[in-house]
Amino acid sequence: MTFDLNRIARRNIRDLKPYSSARSEFSGSAQIFLDANENAHGSPAGEGLNRYPDPLQRKLKRAIGELKGVAPSRIFLGNGSDEAIDLLLRIFCEPGRDSAVICPPTYGMYEVSAAINDVEIVRADLTDDFQLDAGSIAEAFTPGTKLLFICSPNNPTGNLMNRADILQLAGTFSGVVVVDEAYIDFSGQPSLIDVLTEFPNLVVLQTFSKAWGMAGLRVGMAFADERIIDLLDRVKPPYNVSTVAQEIALEAMTRRSWVEACVDETIVERSRIELELARLPFVTRVFTSDANFILVRMIDAGAVYEYLIDRKIVVRDRSRVVLCDSCLRITVGTAQENTSLLEALSGFESGSAKAAAEAAGEHA
Ligand SMILES: *Cc1c(COP(=O)(O)O)cnc(C)c1O
Repeated sequence: MTFDLNRIARRNIRDLKPYSSARSEFSGSAQIFLDANENAHGSPAGEGLNRYPDPLQRKLKRAIGELKGVAPSRIFLGNGSDEAIDLLLRIFCEPGRDSAVICPPTYGMYEVSAAINDVEIVRADLTDDFQLDAGSIAEAFTPGTKLLFICSPNNPTGNLMNRADILQLAGTFSGVVVVDEAYIDFSGQPSLIDVLTEFPNLVVLQTFSKAWGMAGLRVGMAFADERIIDLLDRVKPPYNVSTVAQEIALEAMTRRSWVEACVDETIVERSRIELELARLPFVTRVFTSDANFILVRMIDAGAVYEYLIDRKIVVRDRSRVVLCDSCLRITVGTAQENTSLLEALSGFESGSAKAAAEAAGEHA
């Protein structure tokens, strides 16, 4: 292991004197707050909203720490996990000089965020079965490679990456390995949070946006070694998670069993749709999913996409994405929504699908 945080983080970030907010300079109990230029009379928006939020989101971190079995000092909270992605690029990659490696097909924000920060992206495509390709990842690394983004379960392919492959990379890469677990709740597999203490260069991203049903609230999580968390906290805007987001997320965490029931139902529905989709004559491949969506290859994905739009059903056309040619990505909905989708699809008959089926002698 050759990881050295002091060598990896940008010098200006290491030397940064962070903005010191009123709420970070004084966080004890007092009765009269005349330190933050707030409206002392109150707020038309609601009780307490005249005050700035806790910049370090301590209550929420304590609850998340308990839920995930991780110390609050190893938790960063952001305005969605997209904020953590951006901050990691800004902390570790010198614009115009350093690079980050991604493994396409994968989540689009890594590349967009890197482009915004003028960070070069090097691609090490997944293998044909959508697993990490150790050989091409090794080839993609240069001395300036600071970050490796791995998405597991991966968006848009839906599958988990082999855990042993990730750990192997984390153990040998001199930069930071970011494992995006936005969909981990649907996988039935343990999070890599479990091995955080063994890998000082591992960052695990999770979010309240998917299984937890709070995409509109914007709360994302990063779990990592305290020293990486410290860098994230120094670089983030001081009040990056609003009081409303902190309070509602905290309260929502008490409804864990409701969320678990949703996840269970989603997994049951996922199996049902997988089976039904595979029966459709124009579907050539249904990829196994560990997430709440399914990647499906079909004859003429574009035509199916338009056909569904005409029936007021929107899926994601991924057919122009590397390794995903002719594929749609379909989110698992409620049982009723999924039934509507399947009913609509059963009515689709493309000219080319019919021709292909007839050529294969499957249909009269
Ligand atoms: C949806 C998604 C996210 C977005 O997370 P936010 O917390 O809503 O910003 C992150 N990563 C992946 C892979 C996603 O699919």
